[in-house]
Amino acid sequence: MEASASSNVTEDREGVGETVLYTDRNEARPQGVDLKRIEAAVREILDAVGEDPDREGLLETPARVARMYAEMFAGLKHDAGRHLSKVFTEKYDEIVLVRDISFCSMCEHHLLPFTGTAHIAYLPSGKVVGLSKLARVVEEVARRPQVQERMTETVADLIEKRLDARGVAVVCEATHSCMTMRGVRKPGSLCVTSSMRGVFREDSRSRAEVLGLINRGA
Ligand SMILES: [Zn+2]
Repeated sequence: MEASASSNVTEDREGVGETVLYTDRNEARPQGVDLKRIEAAVREILDAVGEDPDREGLLETPARVARMYAEMFAGLKHDAGRHLSKVFTEKYDEIVLVRDISFCSMCEHHLLPFTGTAHIAYLPSGKVVGLSKLARVVEEVARRPQVQERMTETVADLIEKRLDARGVAVVCEATHSCMTMRGVRKPGSLCVTSSMRGVFREDSRSRAEVLGLINRGA
């Protein structure tokens, strides 16, 4: 992709490989997100924990947190499957795998981030999709209050249905702040979830093959 100082947000969104931000910095109110209400709520929380929301260091915090939430939850209003609407007809009928797609999501139980990587494999049935589109699906499904289990299933469902894939395997590995910072406080613990569809679910040899490819990079 040609990068230039004048490239606008729309062009950035079409780029490949970079972190995709769905909020437009020039937009006063991102789609469906009430920044002022978030600001008021954050101010209330600061007050409730015994802080002084009016001290210098905290003055800009509510507005900053509001913009951050707008960014973190930007996937809520979108159908992530739309990234899979443009497909190409190809004879290729072996495994397509994209490994190590990084993501950052928000655990819906604590509103704390969980971060990690997703690995996506599918067996096409005559239709393939641009590889970066798989990363966009992950990005958008992650950008909402989430649990890792559902996130994994949602990505697998979308790929199975939109591509008519004969098999889909999605594996997500993530570290959850709610486990490392609070509660049991177990830094380094990794949560792994997988969702198998079609051939990868039904046939143990196909499943072993795809898991072998996914784990080769581990
Ligand atoms: Zn949590």
